[in-house]
Amino acid sequence: MSESIFRNYIAGEWVEGAGVVANISPADTSDVIGQYAQADKAQTQAAIAAANLGQQEWQKSGLEQRYSVLMSIGDELIARKDELGELLAREEGKTLAEGAGEIYRSGQFFHYYAAEVLRQMGETADSVRPGIEVETRREPVGVVGIITPWNFPTATGAWKIAPALAFGNAVVWKPANQVPASAWALTEIISRQGLPAGTFNLVMGPGAEVGDVLINSRDINALTFTGSLETGRKVAAATAVNLVKCQLEMGSKNALVVLDDADLDNAVECAVNGAFGGTGQKCTASSRLIVTEGIHDRFVEAAKARMQKLVVGHPLKEGVHIGAVADARQMEQNLEYLALAKSEGGELVCGGQVLNEDTEGYYMQPALFTGTTNDMRINREEAFAPIACVIKVKDYDEALATLNDTNFGLTGGICTQSLKYATDFKRNAKTGCVMINLPTAGTDYHVPFGGRKDSSFGPREQGTYAKEFYTVVKTTYMRA
Ligand code: NAD
Repeated sequence: MSESIFRNYIAGEWVEGAGVVANISPADTSDVIGQYAQADKAQTQAAIAAANLGQQEWQKSGLEQRYSVLMSIGDELIARKDELGELLAREEGKTLAEGAGEIYRSGQFFHYYAAEVLRQMGETADSVRPGIEVETRREPVGVVGIITPWNFPTATGAWKIAPALAFGNAVVWKPANQVPASAWALTEIISRQGLPAGTFNLVMGPGAEVGDVLINSRDINALTFTGSLETGRKVAAATAVNLVKCQLEMGSKNALVVLDDADLDNAVECAVNGAFGGTGQKCTASSRLIVTEGIHDRFVEAAKARMQKLVVGHPLKEGVHIGAVADARQMEQNLEYLALAKSEGGELVCGGQVLNEDTEGYYMQPALFTGTTNDMRINREEAFAPIACVIKVKDYDEALATLNDTNFGLTGGICTQSLKYATDFKRNAKTGCVMINLPTAGTDYHVPFGGRKDSSFGPREQGTYAKEFYTVVKTTYMRA
């Protein structure tokens, strides 16, 4: 579908909004991707009402229909990964390879949950009372509100929408307003699957308006959110008032530990990939590099040499490793954190320059700091920037204590050839995901994903664990 204004999708219809917002590429501010409709409060409420009706129908659908719908969405995403990956790269600033990879991964989420549709098994038990049988089964939770961030606009949507539909729920999706094109494109695919009207709804618009209606609604049954800690707290508070089930995936301050016995080349690859992939705008990014003193100087030299080979540039240009920063506000924040790291005593080893490309956009060379300590603000707050800080420590014990000394806990990594330290780390890192000799970023789609402390709240996402959030359990007692 091509149109001049990309509309919202409510109750099975494409509808105009109360206004429009221009979607401008951060890689080239003269590239206007399109005008996207902005829903108002009343339209968001209408979408929730439509979802309540749609869900009544969708929960009656046969498993084979649900399987086919999810397979078909996954097939189309994978078949169109280059085209939709390009759209994603244009609107978010990530490289074409990262964009196409995200669309492919999103297709895999739909395929995975298509298969899960057919694996919905209940349990039976004998009652403690003679002659009575007990059955437990899972039912759809109902209407699910989905709020997603700008950094993975298609993947975060996909890993929430796919299980929501697989388990018989209806969806009202509010994507981040900086990246509506990817959300609209996924919605357009879903709109062609013959779902009952209202089963799937897209409401684009600002968090303070559209998101606010969703999180305060008594007419949704569950709210899944990925975004910042600050907004996550608001979501938790608002949904708690109405006793709406809630799941939050938020920020982090992930660390990669590099021990003296690490394979140096691999440690450098893990650090550079984990810290700067996606322009550092990943919730799993390793912004803290905790390095023991015996390898510290060699690691810093090798990391610097590796970083000098990183090509920053227009996301669609061949040979580019790091695309554009997502928008002007994020760029401003990056530069503030760069100045903060310096003012706190960090020594800039390399990077940090604002780059001028052929197109007007937001480009920054990844930066590496040494001489930082874990109590500095630069090592405590999520910058979401291509900035990594080395923290030098004496030994493994200090490294582990430093890694855990944070209010966040999404991913934690270690590079070592020691089974003893790897095993101890696996058990004692206070993070939801642990990576051994791997970057802190980069996860699979068939296993649970989530964190601890301020990084996550509520049931885990992804893999079979998703059913905890997207279903409710019913226990039936029967006497014949
Ligand atoms: P954000 O919190 O600003 O926005 C996230 C979403 O919430 C957007 O759709 C936004 O419009 C909406 N929103 C904003 N204010 C709202 C309100 N008052 N009520 C309801 N909705 C509201 O986050 P962001 O800047 O889009 O994303 C970056 C953050 O997301 C980072 O902290 C990053 O770590 C986190 N993130 C986490 C994961 C994870 O799985 N843990 C994955 C990706 C991103």
